[in-house]
Amino acid sequence: RLRWRRAVELLREFEEGCSTSIGRLRQLVDAMTVEMNAGLASDGASKLKMLLTFVDCLPDGKETGTYYALDLGGTNFRIFRVQLREKDSMILMHQVESYLIPQHLLMASSKDLFDFIAMKLKDFVDRVEEEYELDLRMELGFAFSFPVRQISVSSGALIRWTKGFAIADTIGKDVAQCLGDAIERRMLNMHVTALVNNTVGLLALGHYYDKDTVAAVVIGTGTNACYIESTEAIIKSQGLHTDSGGMVVSIEWGNFWSTHLPKTSYDIALDVESSNPHDQGFEKMISGMYLGDIVRRVLYRIAVECDVFGDAVCCLAVPFSLSTPMIAAMHEDDSPELSEVARILREDLHMLEVSSRARRLVVSVCDVVTRRAARLAAAGIVGILKKIGRAEDNSRTVIAMEGGLYVGYALFREYLNEAVIEILGEELAQNVVLNMFEDGSGIGAALVAAAYASKR
Ligand code: ADP
Repeated sequence: RLRWRRAVELLREFEEGCSTSIGRLRQLVDAMTVEMNAGLASDGASKLKMLLTFVDCLPDGKETGTYYALDLGGTNFRIFRVQLREKDSMILMHQVESYLIPQHLLMASSKDLFDFIAMKLKDFVDRVEEEYELDLRMELGFAFSFPVRQISVSSGALIRWTKGFAIADTIGKDVAQCLGDAIERRMLNMHVTALVNNTVGLLALGHYYDKDTVAAVVIGTGTNACYIESTEAIIKSQGLHTDSGGMVVSIEWGNFWSTHLPKTSYDIALDVESSNPHDQGFEKMISGMYLGDIVRRVLYRIAVECDVFGDAVCCLAVPFSLSTPMIAAMHEDDSPELSEVARILREDLHMLEVSSRARRLVVSVCDVVTRRAARLAAAGIVGILKKIGRAEDNSRTVIAMEGGLYVGYALFREYLNEAVIEILGEELAQNVVLNMFEDGSGIGAALVAAAYASKR
């Protein structure tokens, strides 16, 4: 009984440490807007990079024709072909193919990587275009989800690789040109018309369907958001002028930090042991890469101190042995005996005899971690609305949402939506629409290419 008392105590302590009271969420909303302003004032003034994207016009549904896109953001890359019809924001058809990048290419040379991608692109075009005229130039949008210092809408230098890529000679190079050169070597008449990160692609797709879309948020393995800012507010690039008077800014909000964020000893340990300590603090509390591991750390401490999970708990000692889709499945287990929880603990963590009381404890830990993540993301979203003056007015505001965590984890989504209403109040929240997409960034990159191709 003493063991259980201690276990419950540890859970309560953790829950208190994760508190996201409405007061705290409001402070975070304010902190987000303050940091966004600082990041717009000068480079390096904030943890938020507030990167210029040079996207100053978004597709509005009038684009026509066939466009390609390439989405490179992880160990897979995908090729899209999108056909558009005028007048009614209609995507007539889209085709997509996914390819695994061979492991050795993640550490090879720039040329090898882009030659591989261009080869797959050429194969794809040869297959899908029944007959194409060699002198007819095709247009491509490149969705590239790594930090880039953008120089124009179609060019930008790679700041650094992440997510397992380590090709030294790409750093500082224009990745759109690397791709363009490789395409040329394949004798393919295709132009890299736009280089965008995944949030910008998503915003473009959201805007194509609904003109009130002003921001996009991706919550998957990592997390980021972008929004439309007026050029006057971008103080760090004085004199920046665009026809629309606005430009999409990529917040890079994964690196947001504020003393108001509810940080526990488990978060500190996770950060210290991560490959990028002191970086991406917001991301480490919110995104799919980390939520499972926070749960694992809490369960491991309870296992060691209280011995309530039976003998076989060694898997809990292994970093990342509990993934976020696994905690989602346990959290959403509504069977009376929590049989899905039992199955996952048994099959994935080799914990064979976990009592039903201990299973309920596991679900509670998943709930605390997920609820905190979703509410913090909600505060970030309201922070953006506040920054652009949409948190107090009655105009309709739409935010495009995407990412495996948001799309695949219904309870996360519910907590997030609920918190947006709580922070804004029922009445104002009625004007805010969160629009969910799948595959949005790739199709969106093709749409940015369409918007800029027709501009020329
Ligand atoms: P990425 O962010 O890697 O480009 P996704 O947006 O598809 O790709 O996100 C994948 C991530 O989302 C996974 O790493 C996982 O953490 C999380 N995820 C995927 N499916 C689910 C799910 N059903 N429940 C919770 N998290 C999920």
